[in-house]
Amino acid sequence: MNTDQLRSFVRDIPDFPKEGIMFRDVTPLFLEPDALRAAAAAVAAPFRDAGVDRVLGIEARGFLLGAPVALELGAGLGLVRKQGKLPYHTHQVSYDLEYGSDTVEMHIDTVEPGHRVLILDDLIATGGTAAAAVQLAREAGGEVVGAAFLIELSDLGGAKLLDGIDPIHCVLRY
Ligand code: AMP
Repeated sequence: MNTDQLRSFVRDIPDFPKEGIMFRDVTPLFLEPDALRAAAAAVAAPFRDAGVDRVLGIEARGFLLGAPVALELGAGLGLVRKQGKLPYHTHQVSYDLEYGSDTVEMHIDTVEPGHRVLILDDLIATGGTAAAAVQLAREAGGEVVGAAFLIELSDLGGAKLLDGIDPIHCVLRY
């Protein structure tokens, strides 16, 4: 399946969750096994020989895409969640939003010192969430070997917040 075919499974929803936002809805892609399989393979492709120990999936669609990517790479799947959802001891990182701030967490045993970590989400917009995940991985002693997204919203320039992360791999650009 080529990228144009993959793109056809992403549904554009104008003005969600608020006016002026074009929401890129990947749920139709999740409904189609061939598309999900192809998306996971395309997201994982540059990292096949990268010796990834942990794929860090970001809540919530990053969990769903992260599972098949972790299987493709033979890596463990770690979860980065909004504050208050994880039951065990956590590392925490707060980051700025347009208004206010947000906090993400990761269990302290998800990444061990020296682990090679791939940051993963369905989409990078401003990059704030992914940058917080990078910080979590590094605080735990991990080495971030790249970041991968199915979708990049290029106009928002989120990759700039991931300064020093190489490669930043995006399959579809809008
Ligand atoms: P950011 O921290 O701004 O890069 O936001 C990334 C997170 O917000 C990802 O987990 C995305 O799933 C979600 N997100 C942000 N903007 C959109 C959008 N236009 N369509 C779909 N998801 C979005």
